[in-house]
Amino acid sequence: MRLKDQNALITGGSRGIGRAIAEAFAAEGAKVAIVYRGSREAADTLAASINAKGGKALALQADVADAASVKTCVECVEKELGPIGILVNNAGVIEDDLFVRMKPEAWNKVIQTNLGGVFNFCHAVAFGMMQRRAGRIINVSSVAADHVNMGQTNYSASKGAINSFTRALAVELAKRGVTVNAIAPGFIETDMSAPVRNKAGDRIVKYIPMRRIGSPEDIARVAVFLASADSSYITGQVLTVDGGLTLGAVAE
Ligand code: NAP
Repeated sequence: MRLKDQNALITGGSRGIGRAIAEAFAAEGAKVAIVYRGSREAADTLAASINAKGGKALALQADVADAASVKTCVECVEKELGPIGILVNNAGVIEDDLFVRMKPEAWNKVIQTNLGGVFNFCHAVAFGMMQRRAGRIINVSSVAADHVNMGQTNYSASKGAINSFTRALAVELAKRGVTVNAIAPGFIETDMSAPVRNKAGDRIVKYIPMRRIGSPEDIARVAVFLASADSSYITGQVLTVDGGLTLGAVAE
């Protein structure tokens, strides 16, 4: 068990990629705090299923964009489980529109959730990790940071900033034994990508050299690696996990 007795907090942990990460961490022996915003039932069901298998999981409500809510959440988790050793900033939203039509609300929501959420949770745990001279921070970015799509100025800006933030924070925390890395998924089968997958159908697969959409578990396995001792000399990196999508070749 690669994460035995570690305490991990996963934002957006009740569904999609976050859920797969929570399950994979629990299977590796971590105690997991599953943070949700609206999906209470899914979070409670997941926590109950991990606990029923002999693991330890908590479900907690917090809005990652709200610093006060994040602070309270981290205090609750640390009271229940002890210090957080692994933080996964996975929560994210899309609110696509062409830039000239984009409402300031759509811009603010995406930036405050995707980027503000990363800031709020890192801010709440980084000092403790530095004091303990141990910690793993994993930010879920996207290939859309560098490989842009129409209608995603807000989303691409948020993910590009996460990549820069990851590198900058890694430099500050490195000598305190804390690593900070990001994962940039390609197309992954979740609710978030459903509208694009439904619209484009099999055409998407032509652009993926591995000829399949990724699964949340494809990302979770990389998160386990980045959370474990196996990655102890890796920091400030953005790992692309996309089946070759961003290599730019159209598969025959
Ligand atoms: P998803 O199925 O739509 O799940 C999004 C998660 O984020 C949900 O658990 C949701 O929680 C949570 N969330 C959203 N706003 C929140 C807030 N203000 N506070 C707390 N939690 C909030 O999406 P996903 O595909 O798993 O995405 C997970 C991450 O991967 C995101 O950062 C996304 O940008 C990134 N990503 C996804 C893909 C893809 O193809 N799916 C590709 C690249 C990157 P509730 O349900 O409780 O509201």
